Amino acid sequence: MADRSLRGIRLGAQSLQSEEGVIFHERAQYTYACTTCHRDSTLTFAADAEIPDTWECRTCGAEAVLRKGEGTVTVDHSGDKIPRTHWDMLLERRSVPELEELLEERLAYVRARRGAGDDVTKEKLSA
Ligand SMILES: [Zn+2]
Repeated sequence: MADRSLRGIRLGAQSLQSEEGVIFHERAQYTYACTTCHRDSTLTFAADAEIPDTWECRTCGAEAVLRKGEGTVTVDHSGDKIPRTHWDMLLERRSVPELEELLEERLAYVRARRGAGDDVTKEKLSA
């Protein structure tokens, strides 16, 4: 440490630890081709890591597909989750006949209130 000057070194940005004697994990590089901007993103993975078929494009953020030989791997999107709508969630809790019944109940309630409201108005007008 004595032979090195700390001046000008941003702490945190650089490690002062020496790489001497450090055995690096075996790495492998993979290239992903963007489906939108067609640029390549090259990433380094640990040699024993499971390589994902897709990665976020480093240029535009769109989906980039792993290159394999001359082309790219085939991405299976069949397992992708389709976002549920409010209607889908509602149907998970209630059937359509149940919803119709609830709607009828609610309409009857609203009509009764409106009717009562009308009566109040009439009373006020006649008073
Ligand atoms: Zn892109």
